[in-house]
Amino acid sequence: MVKRAPSRFNPDLLARDASRYEAEIPLSQFTRLSELLLSTDGQLATNFGVNLRKDHCVIRGSLSFEAVQQCQRCMEAFATPITAEFELVCVTTQAEADALPDELDPVVLDENGQLHLVDLLEDDALLQLPDIPKHVDDPSCQPGEQSFGDVQLNPANGKPNPFGALKDLKLS
Ligand SMILES: [Zn+2]
Repeated sequence: MVKRAPSRFNPDLLARDASRYEAEIPLSQFTRLSELLLSTDGQLATNFGVNLRKDHCVIRGSLSFEAVQQCQRCMEAFATPITAEFELVCVTTQAEADALPDELDPVVLDENGQLHLVDLLEDDALLQLPDIPKHVDDPSCQPGEQSFGDVQLNPANGKPNPFGALKDLKLS
């Protein structure tokens, strides 16, 4: 059975039933993610379950959204469908998080023993974004026209060429 996920919840309580949870969250609620997107009109969809494993709650699920970013080659906006799986181990303190084996991703509960869905998902969403967003295999993606005013650029290193003006002088 799939239930609507609360925006904030106590994972221990959710672990007591075997439900799956799902939610759709406006991208604008993810502050760090929003800074990297050209548009935050869309939603992030998630689907997860909570299980008790030994003495920790483990949250396993997936997330998906459409990332609208500016291509760093042609400067046009483009959209990439993003999906990710995540598995997070709930801990109550940062020290407990640091003590987990490297292969486990911790998530630290707040002082009320609760998790905010946005906090839970944001790191995993951010990890999916490319460092330098660029079209892939799109022939229409060409370096954009860039205006540098009257400064002549040396094509070899993109810096102003101090001899550019001199050359013009000799030619005239
Ligand atoms: Zn492009």
